[in-house]
Formats: sequence, C-alpha cells, structure tokens
Amino acid sequence: MKHDCIFCRIVRGEIPAKKLFEDDDILAFHDINPSAPVHFLIIPKLHLENLYDADLSHQPLVGKLFGMAGTLARDQGLHDGFRVIVNNGRVGRQEVYHLHVHVLGGPEPLGSSNLRR
Ligand code: 5GP
Ligand code: ZN
Repeated sequence: MKHDCIFCRIVRGEIPAKKLFEDDDILAFHDINPSAPVHFLIIPKLHLENLYDADLSHQPLVGKLFGMAGTLARDQGLHDGFRVIVNNGRVGRQEVYHLHVHVLGGPEPLGSSNLRR
C-alpha cells in the first residue's frame, strides 16, 4: 500500500535525503534538523507508524534497525558512545508517524536537551 507519509516519500526518492545506508529493508539518513553534531535516522522501508504498530511478526525488521545502529555510528565516527531514541505516539512526542530510530552523537557528551531527539 502506498503511503503519503514523508518518510515513505523519502524511501521512494520523491523527497531528497542525505542517505547513509540503504538495503531492501531499511534506510538511514541524516536528520534535516539535527539535535546533536551527528544525528541520523534509521527507518524500515515498510510503513509502520511506531512500535505500537509493530508486533512480533516485525521482529526481524525492528531488530535490523537496532542491529545497524552500531555499524552506522562507527561509520560516523561515534567511537565514544551515542544515544538511541524512539519516540512513540502523542505522549512520546512523535512528530513523523513512520517508525524511526534516532541516533545522536558527540563529540561531547549529550545533554538533556538531546533526550527527546
Ligand atoms: P520524531 O519527533 O517523530 O521522533 O522525529 C522526527 C524527525 O524527523 C525530526 O528529528 C525531524 O527533524 C526529522 N524530519 C522531519 N522531516 C524530515 C525530512 O523531510 N527529512 C529529514 N532528513 N528529516 C526529517
Ligand atoms: Zn511511511
């Protein structure tokens, strides 16, 4: 099913993004409004709204989002740590309703202002 959400449009190449990684299942790209010196997003190509919209049948895909985080963080030079955030729904202050993992990094330790995203 074709979705009009902004991240589905990035997946389809209808909106440009600074891509870091792409395969058949997932896409990683730099956040357009970074909250830290390094801030990128890892998303499934499948449109899932958030983790509330996912179940165990999505375990391989959700696992892949997290499984790639370290490799991509290493590629970005985040050798001394980084933060991973997933905002879910209104209470989680999610803005884009297509599941995404935020990866934020230094060089300096992050503050509480980087907690949300
Ligand atoms: P959320 O609050 O939903 O967890 O975060 C959504 C993130 O997507 C925000 O950090 C925002 O800057 C980013 N974002 C929104 N629209 C675009 C876009 O068109 N391109 C890119 N690269 N990032 C976007
Ligand atoms: Zn989508």
